[in-house]
Amino acid sequence: MNDMRKTVADLHAELVRYNLVVWTAGNVSGRVPGEDLFVIKPSGVSYDELTPENMVVCDLDGNLVEGEHAPSSDTAAHAYVYRNMPEVGGVVHTHSTYASAWAARGEAVPCVLTAMADEFGGEIPVGPFALIGDDSIGQGIVETLKGHRSKAVLMQNHGVFSIGKDAKAAVKAAVMCEDVARTVHVARQLGDPLPIAQADIDSLYDRYQNVYGQRSPR
Ligand SMILES: [Zn+2]
Repeated sequence: MNDMRKTVADLHAELVRYNLVVWTAGNVSGRVPGEDLFVIKPSGVSYDELTPENMVVCDLDGNLVEGEHAPSSDTAAHAYVYRNMPEVGGVVHTHSTYASAWAARGEAVPCVLTAMADEFGGEIPVGPFALIGDDSIGQGIVETLKGHRSKAVLMQNHGVFSIGKDAKAAVKAAVMCEDVARTVHVARQLGDPLPIAQADIDSLYDRYQNVYGQRSPR
């Protein structure tokens, strides 16, 4: 539990380092191994004030279990993902600029870069418009990502939710999502990006997820 508090607190610095967040609008959570609990950012606390001690622990219904602060206002969405996707060990939410610009148009980022094929195995999909306050956001994330290769979803008119086998992998997906959203946006300014054949996308994805992963753990 204390390890996960430190991991999740430290990973928030990566959101800042990669310019994925402003003010307090972005959060990381990590499932506590072997328990029906997860650690998440406290609501309204700035990134440079986050410590392992002020992280919040919630159960899989999003109820506060441990912590002096209220949990992030996005806790219900994180909890819904953990309840419905047992393979997920980490969830990240950001309003990163370029990815959110695609979300604002309700447009999936097309797979036109080999790095996208590697990491996402295809396009980064759009999830439904959903208001905060009930399970709508969580449902939209799970409906879109279950059975999809992509570890990130652009929630329409909102921003990015990413998932991973652990919290670090979910942060990596959020960083890569913004990176490719930016590059494809720039490519669009001067013309039409060239598509990559589906067979080549499949081959790149398979190599990166399997062969590459075995040689050097990510
Ligand atoms: Zn948000």
